[in-house]
Amino acid sequence: MRLILLGAPGAGKGTVAKLLTQVDGSVQISTGDILRGAVQAGTALGKKAEAFMKAGDLVPDDLIMGIMETRLQEPDCAKGFLLDGFPRTIPQAEALKALLAKLGIKLDVVANIEVPRQEILNRLTTRRTCVNTECQAIYNVRSQPPKVEGVCDKCGSPIVQRDDETEEAISKRLDTYDEKTSPLIEFYRKEGLLLVVDSPSSEGVVAAITARVSG
Ligand code: ADP
Ligand code: ZN
Repeated sequence: MRLILLGAPGAGKGTVAKLLTQVDGSVQISTGDILRGAVQAGTALGKKAEAFMKAGDLVPDDLIMGIMETRLQEPDCAKGFLLDGFPRTIPQAEALKALLAKLGIKLDVVANIEVPRQEILNRLTTRRTCVNTECQAIYNVRSQPPKVEGVCDKCGSPIVQRDDETEEAISKRLDTYDEKTSPLIEFYRKEGLLLVVDSPSSEGVVAAITARVSG
């Protein structure tokens, strides 16, 4: 399947994308994961992106489009892809539309995952992420703790609170979402691609998406 996952930070896009990869072998493409990997590796891209990310600001559109133009042409995307955290602005959505037209790729659906604001805040402040860039497993100290405190179940690396998950950066990210990303809901509604999902569980969101894509 070829789809975009929309939703505020903490809506569960990453978790849903990971579950969907198991359905039909589509690859998850998370711009956040790619950027964090670049920051850790100290690449030119990482150096440019780091300050924006730490502050909870968006990374400039041209950097993101450069990443995505390359990524979408890699062979593993032929089976399908799940875009997680991209596009994030109207200019990115317009640029993606042009890029997909150029590559002859048609999207199946744009799923907007709706979660109440208070629930988002609860989730983000209790979220922990594996530091291993190859793994990036996500935990929640309340609802989904690792078996051993502070240690990733999957790879044994430490799990930590992300730099951009301090209370200040979180509220900045939510404001940025409202201002820059939420207009994409209307954009994709007009394109006839929007599916609204408000299931409280990630499994429910996955079921709604697979029903729409296969039906
Ligand atoms: P979340 O969805 O939880 O906010 P992500 O992992 O998707 O986190 O993104 C982390 C950070 O990476 C964002 O706050 C932003 O700085 C940057 N980023 C990720 N994707 C994009 C994008 N498409 N456009 C601009 N910046 C991005
Ligand atoms: Zn791990």
